[in-house]
Amino acid sequence: MFDQSITAFRLRKIPVKLHITLLLFIPYVAFVATRQFARFVDELGMPVEDIHVPPFVWGLILAVALFGSILLHELAHSLVARRQGAEVQSITLMALGGVSQLRGEVHPEHEAWMAFVGPLTSLGIAATSYGAFALLRLPPEVAAALLVVAWMNLALGVFNLLPAFPMDGGRVLRGLLVSRVGRSRATRIATVVGKVMAGAFAIYGIVSFNVVLVLIAGFVYLGASAEQSRLAARDVLRGVSMADLMTTRLGEAHPGEAAVDVARRLLIGNLVGATVLDGEESPLGPRPLGLVLASELAERVARQGRDLPVEKAMLTNLASVQVGDDATSALDAMVSGDGKAVLVLGSGGGVVGLVTDAEIQRLMALAALGQDLHPR
Ligand SMILES: [Zn+2]
Repeated sequence: MFDQSITAFRLRKIPVKLHITLLLFIPYVAFVATRQFARFVDELGMPVEDIHVPPFVWGLILAVALFGSILLHELAHSLVARRQGAEVQSITLMALGGVSQLRGEVHPEHEAWMAFVGPLTSLGIAATSYGAFALLRLPPEVAAALLVVAWMNLALGVFNLLPAFPMDGGRVLRGLLVSRVGRSRATRIATVVGKVMAGAFAIYGIVSFNVVLVLIAGFVYLGASAEQSRLAARDVLRGVSMADLMTTRLGEAHPGEAAVDVARRLLIGNLVGATVLDGEESPLGPRPLGLVLASELAERVARQGRDLPVEKAMLTNLASVQVGDDATSALDAMVSGDGKAVLVLGSGGGVVGLVTDAEIQRLMALAALGQDLHPR
């Protein structure tokens, strides 16, 4: 669900991605603010004639303020996560908050605090804006804008504190439960509470014709389910060697080859994918330029025609892990890069294997059969 986003910029090397929900929501806020701003100033009992900046400019300013508020909220999470030893791989900003993708896990006891600082930041911005509105003698339009910013951040803070996992409140709940009932039980409780709240949002949203609430319900439900399966996978993969997880059914391809030929070769040979290798020899052997996955390549050919050269269809933004790593690091690496596959590198630096969803599902299924995945 985080695939529908674009990397907008980098902040201290952390890619900041904008989710499609935010890309739609920001213009919507600008539009509503433009149309309502004068009426809002009037409702506050302030003279509308004193508005000197055109309403659409206030619309833009308030949209940017909302964006900045969400960014600060998410940065607070990231900075605390970093201080507690997790590596922040990317930040995705969404309409009503955001998600920080972490590599490695924050100590469960610290998760509550990490989750709480986001809403705390939003409430802090709300209090500061409201304080400035109430105490300073400002032009009416500036005062009105500050009040709007205070409202937006109050809503962000309170909404995210609802104990509906994966929202911050749900993470606070899980963090507080961990020391009492253990991690997996805490997750189960928090995700079940999240799903129940999603159901309540959905029913209330439908009854009150509130489309936004129904969308939020869907988001919470999907997020809770995703977290349940992610943790289930983590439990299965912990202590399993990468060599037992990865597939070595990997072929080779070269730039200039037709994608259709490569796809056919891979599928006939029952290979999962192929590294696309540079022709030039480097001291470490041929340099991998990217990767193609057999099934995906076949789809691309069907969509884009048989003339497609293989290098136009390859994935280049791939995360990698070492063959000696624990299998859980492949799960972490999957959320960085483009999320479809993780390269497994050998001690010499060459690609020795590949992990996709299928490899993880295979071990999950084996574990479900009661197979011991830790023979050593
Ligand atoms: Zn948050």
